[in-house]
Amino acid sequence: MPALLDVQELKTHFPVRQGLWRKAVQHIRAVDGVSFTLQAGETLGLVGESGCGKSTVGRSILHLTPPTSGEVIFNGTSLGSLSPNQLRELRIQMQMVFQNPLSSLNPRLTVEEIVTSAPLYHGLITRQQVRSEAIRLLDRVGMSAQHLQRFPHEFSGGQRQRLCIARALSLSPRLIVCDEAVSALDVSIQAQILNLLKDLQQEQHLSYLFISHDMGVIRYIADRVAVMYLGRIVELADQDALFQSPRHPYTQALLQAIPASHPRHRHRQRQALQGDVPSPTRAYAGCAFAERCPLATETCRQSLPPWRELAPGHYARCHLAEPTPAGATLN
Ligand code: SF4
Repeated sequence: MPALLDVQELKTHFPVRQGLWRKAVQHIRAVDGVSFTLQAGETLGLVGESGCGKSTVGRSILHLTPPTSGEVIFNGTSLGSLSPNQLRELRIQMQMVFQNPLSSLNPRLTVEEIVTSAPLYHGLITRQQVRSEAIRLLDRVGMSAQHLQRFPHEFSGGQRQRLCIARALSLSPRLIVCDEAVSALDVSIQAQILNLLKDLQQEQHLSYLFISHDMGVIRYIADRVAVMYLGRIVELADQDALFQSPRHPYTQALLQAIPASHPRHRHRQRQALQGDVPSPTRAYAGCAFAERCPLATETCRQSLPPWRELAPGHYARCHLAEPTPAGATLN
């Protein structure tokens, strides 16, 4: 079955300008050759440390930040080939939910206006349908008609994020990019929002690109997981395979940093990643993780590790990760 979203060699570089003539002296390689697919009804988790470029991937897919090169194919249509008007029309099917719900909601609009202004603008509903549509959308996200005339500041963080989800649903999208959508919420509220997203996905066969720095959240919500480091995906696998048999040293380090959930395992030593994420303005001949990797060799520093399939559906970019022999099981 063709993928709903096919991202091929996506690159987004930002020029660093200096001097009187604002000449570009170097480039920040925020996204540096990212490829993946996303099926209808699937959730792909995109995880990595702050500054690795995962939010830029989300914005570049929707062309909110124009990519430098590469291709984004949504439902068989290449977004790069569209005129601004055609892109605006297609983007109805691709919505985004951001980290901070308060800053992404217009404080002067009522809830009714927030969730119906986009479908009204696009002619998907008439003025007579505004109230009933607003009630329907609020009901989908666990809110009620009594909230219709209130303003965003009158709600809790969790309720505001429900409003953002209702606004995204108002255009009946097929893909929602969730950019750190639960990071600003308390843990108990996070669980409610994640469960809401799962329920909506089942009801509407939605696809999610779920961007987060939190491995626990990714484990709960994602079907497949892509791990990103310094603008590139370094490992991609089904959620079970990635959490049980991580093959890239960076993924292994991220998993070791998760606090143990069971008291019996709390004595387990957590190993923090050494060093900071290196500068994204540098071009690396070899593996960008080499400066922090305990296993790095001279080969790692000098040649870029190839993207290899190590087991069916399990890919990694590491010189030392060997393919699993057919029939063998990973521990
Ligand atoms: Fe570490 Fe080398 Fe693998 Fe990079 S290629 S992750 S430096 S072992």
